[in-house]
Amino acid sequence: MNSTLVNTCIRFVRPVTGPVTAGHFERTREAVPELADGQMLVRVAHLSMDPSQRRQMMPGVVYAEPLQVGDVMVGRALGRVVESRHGGFAPGDWVRGKFGWQTYCISDGRYVERIELDGFGPTAYLGVPGNPGITAWVGLHTIAGVKSSDTVVISAACGAVGSVGAAIARDIGCRVVGIAGGERKCAFAVERLGYDACVDHCDPRLAERLAEATPDGVDVNFENVGGEVFDQVLARMNDHGRVALCGLISQYNLAQPHGLRNVAEILNHNLRVQGFRLANYAAQRPAALIDLKRLLSEGAVTQEETVVDGLERAPEAFIDLFRGVNVGKMLVRVAAD
Ligand code: NDP
Repeated sequence: MNSTLVNTCIRFVRPVTGPVTAGHFERTREAVPELADGQMLVRVAHLSMDPSQRRQMMPGVVYAEPLQVGDVMVGRALGRVVESRHGGFAPGDWVRGKFGWQTYCISDGRYVERIELDGFGPTAYLGVPGNPGITAWVGLHTIAGVKSSDTVVISAACGAVGSVGAAIARDIGCRVVGIAGGERKCAFAVERLGYDACVDHCDPRLAERLAEATPDGVDVNFENVGGEVFDQVLARMNDHGRVALCGLISQYNLAQPHGLRNVAEILNHNLRVQGFRLANYAAQRPAALIDLKRLLSEGAVTQEETVVDGLERAPEAFIDLFRGVNVGKMLVRVAAD
């Protein structure tokens, strides 16, 4: 029955040592095989562009399963079941899983979740009540223990994680300061995402601007970027401040990491710096989901997204994450809903 269907895939074809380019990917086409018992066929609808995918391209990476040359590019995605020989899934079901950069995925159901839309658009499940939103929630509540009196700084302020983080911290009652690339994004952060202030990391006077935006210092740093940005925020931290180290996107394309200059601030101010990976916080997911859906229903957070059309443009969309082209969740639409 599937012999008429063709799967288009984007494969990872060259090891990466510096910035990712279109030359690291190739498109292939192949027939979709018949399903075996226990399998289902998923039509991929939207791909989630995640900075962590870059880390999987690094040889010998310990962060996640490394990609091998020739593999279909890994990636979380949302799709619909079109055919099923699996007892737990039926045609028409919305599903979320690591389907990769391809138009069809045959799955045995492992690590696949069926999504009940609950009145939200399907792409929300790659955003606010998806991994980015839950990451923001875990970082602020579980790792940083944010309270209403805190001044919270969030880097990559307008991105998938940062934009939800702003809404969560604002809901708690914090002063929330963003760091983003460019004046346009900083204005968006304040006018649309509700940051109290937002500082441009491209401004050569970043340290001065950050000091103006955080007159009482910083109690919580939700760190998404690393490098110079992280150093500048460390210099503003208050005594007993907390750093939720979520990501280091400025470092992923570098052959040599930047390192930290202001590490003494951790000692001087009794800081608690804790890295975290969402995969290790499954127990927090139910509480986070309840809270994130509440924020969405109340309009306290909106699903911000940048959607690029067509599987063949997935490499371009992925590269653009590292150029700051996106606002909110970067998605690639593979098929119409
Ligand atoms: P975003 O939607 O925030 O997109 C990435 C953004 O990072 C860009 O839009 C850009 O914003 C900024 N950026 C890119 N390169 C640089 C640079 N060199 N210097 C400064 N800013 C840069 O991505 P996500 O929300 O998906 O991810 C944000 C961070 O969270 C990443 O570091 C990611 O690895 C991490 N993460 C961690 C998880 C965990 O479990 N710990 C789970 C999910 C994400 P701008 O234009 O403002 O510079």
